[in-house]
Amino acid sequence: MALSDYQNQYAAARAAMVERQLKPRGVSDQRVLEVMGGVPRHLFLDESLVSWAYDDGPQPIGHGQFISQPYIVASMTQALGLRPTDRVLEIGSGCGYQTAVLACLADRVMAVEIVPQLRDRSLEVLSRLGLENILLKLGDGRQGWPELAPFDAILVAAYSEALPRRLFSQLAPGGRMVIPLGPENGQRLVLVTKDPDGGQRRRVMEGCRFVPLVDPGQTDVNSPSFYLGGPGRR
Ligand code: SAH
Repeated sequence: MALSDYQNQYAAARAAMVERQLKPRGVSDQRVLEVMGGVPRHLFLDESLVSWAYDDGPQPIGHGQFISQPYIVASMTQALGLRPTDRVLEIGSGCGYQTAVLACLADRVMAVEIVPQLRDRSLEVLSRLGLENILLKLGDGRQGWPELAPFDAILVAAYSEALPRRLFSQLAPGGRMVIPLGPENGQRLVLVTKDPDGGQRRRVMEGCRFVPLVDPGQTDVNSPSFYLGGPGRR
């Protein structure tokens, strides 16, 4: 099976999601709209939640985590202005839905997730969809993925009080990062751009509510990485 084999499932719900949730709120990037109209979001959720998959809100994915609201996925993705040649780092890939959206728009996605069960399940769904331009590892995303840096874009799906310096340092000159920043109850999405000389520019976007980017402390969360191999799309 490949992505296209699933596209007639829930096609009307996806089209309604694009028309009612994304376009009216200012998502206008045609590639983002097309991809979100095509990726089967319901496959990433537990079977008991499938009928809510295209609703206008986050849904639980277990382990105290949530798949982001469709509009937030679209807004963060659009803000990154992805080109088909871009290499993207995603932190907190959770159920893998955002990973799939990024993988359809960029050359390659490198994703880091800290919960082993989410990593396992997302790998299974992503490979079922035939998305091969993804590398997914278990670990502490606050460290980024230095061996594979620099990245043209970084998407962080968990909030932090301050911009994690290690992640910014792994951004290529001209690179873009979108991240929820702030105190728990006053988070905003922020687009951080790295100037060609290494300087930083910020654009504050909408308010949001994410789970924290956890600090695993002494816990050893690093275990061997698992890859969905395959060449990039470039
Ligand atoms: N975008 C994903 C998940 C959002 S929830 C989705 O739509 O499913 C945030 C995710 O960040 C969770 O899966 C959580 O386990 C992960 N996370 C939290 N702290 C992390 C860290 N330090 N490193 C890697 N992943 C982390």
